[in-house]
Amino acid sequence: MVLDPATILVIHLLIILLVSVSYFVTWLDARREDSLLWMCGGTLGAGLGIIIRFTLPQPLSLILSNGLIEAAGFGLWFACRRLRGRVIWPVLLPLPLLLWCFFAILPFFGSIGLRITVANAVLGLFFLVAGREVWIFARENPALRLYMAGLLALQAGVYFFWAGFNLIAPPPATAHLLRLRGLVLTDLVSLVTTLLLAIGLIGLVRDRTVRLYRQAAMLDAVTGVENRRAFDERLAAQMMETSRRRQALAVIMMDADHFKSYNDRYGHPQGDACLRQIAQALKTVLTSVGGRIYRYGGEEFVALLSLPDGAAVAEFAERLRRAVRDLRLPHEAHSAGIVTISIGVALVEPSSCAEAARVIAAADDALYQAKRGGRDRVMILTEMNALTTLSEPKAAPI
Ligand code: GH3
Ligand code: MG
Ligand code: MG
Repeated sequence: MVLDPATILVIHLLIILLVSVSYFVTWLDARREDSLLWMCGGTLGAGLGIIIRFTLPQPLSLILSNGLIEAAGFGLWFACRRLRGRVIWPVLLPLPLLLWCFFAILPFFGSIGLRITVANAVLGLFFLVAGREVWIFARENPALRLYMAGLLALQAGVYFFWAGFNLIAPPPATAHLLRLRGLVLTDLVSLVTTLLLAIGLIGLVRDRTVRLYRQAAMLDAVTGVENRRAFDERLAAQMMETSRRRQALAVIMMDADHFKSYNDRYGHPQGDACLRQIAQALKTVLTSVGGRIYRYGGEEFVALLSLPDGAAVAEFAERLRRAVRDLRLPHEAHSAGIVTISIGVALVEPSSCAEAARVIAAADDALYQAKRGGRDRVMILTEMNALTTLSEPKAAPI
């Protein structure tokens, strides 16, 4: 079945419109993925090229339509580069169109076969480098990676095949472009690719956006460490693993001492900076042993850590307390003269079947005892209802 040019044009335009609108609407969602705008622009550019091919007289049609389609291929490469945050050079965008105009004055332009070969070889190249960008970018999503990079490589293959075919068996000089079966077929194949690419790219971008939002929802804006939501999820998961655990799970609650008076004395912005420094100091110690720190709320932090026994936990909690002391952050409204923290620890034994809420309450209770005991110290609850270990602060020189 051979479709007439008008029907082919309408099919092209409908798909191009659908794809461009989909790119644009997806971009509107978060307004941060400019690769979608590049894809939208590239698709519209190719669409315009196709309208020109079907409507304007020769040779203007040939020069403009192919130039625009080449520029769209170039734009596709830009879009894929932006996908992985690489630099692009928008000023170079008209280059394919200008080069094609330049080719138009060369003698080879008179041969349909050579024209098709050059145009398709260049397009194939753009699809190939775009596929490389996607392959590098989408490594975290193997299925979409294979789908997208495969699609781009396949399309590049179609262009290269068509380029080679026309080189070996050029159509007669009198052939009418719009009735050239091979050309109509490659156009329709690239139209299907355009549609399938849009589905894949929108999927990739949405996947990344959801992941970024999820990460942001788990981070504390002031200190940059994970937040209460992340902690609650992690604790619930850790508690579920109780039966499989071989080591005790320590829930370590840390609270800055006399922080209200720190704010009163130095102001809130300085208070925020202080919290950031405390968080970073605690994070450094914790990450060195594979632990994680979370901001529990206000000037309170919490950490989860698996350690062999109470003695190891006491020693580690001491390290945390000292790490903040070692910052030597001046705090004139505190008898210590520097910023300190109090620590309360609840220790969940491997066999324990305590609930998360009870463990938190126990750690909070231990922290309260540390505050009552004079602050700048560590308290550990080894049983859920008995305060058994007390670690006094060692006088550290200021
Ligand atoms: P304590 O030693 O008993 O813990 O005394 P405290 O003053 O630290 O405790 P209190 O609960 O009375 O006050 C906590 C203060 O922490 C009050 C609030 O101004 C401050 N705070 C909480 N969140 C933030 C924050 O995000 N930034 C700043 N700058 N201050 C905060
Ligand atoms: Mg406090
Ligand atoms: Mg507090």
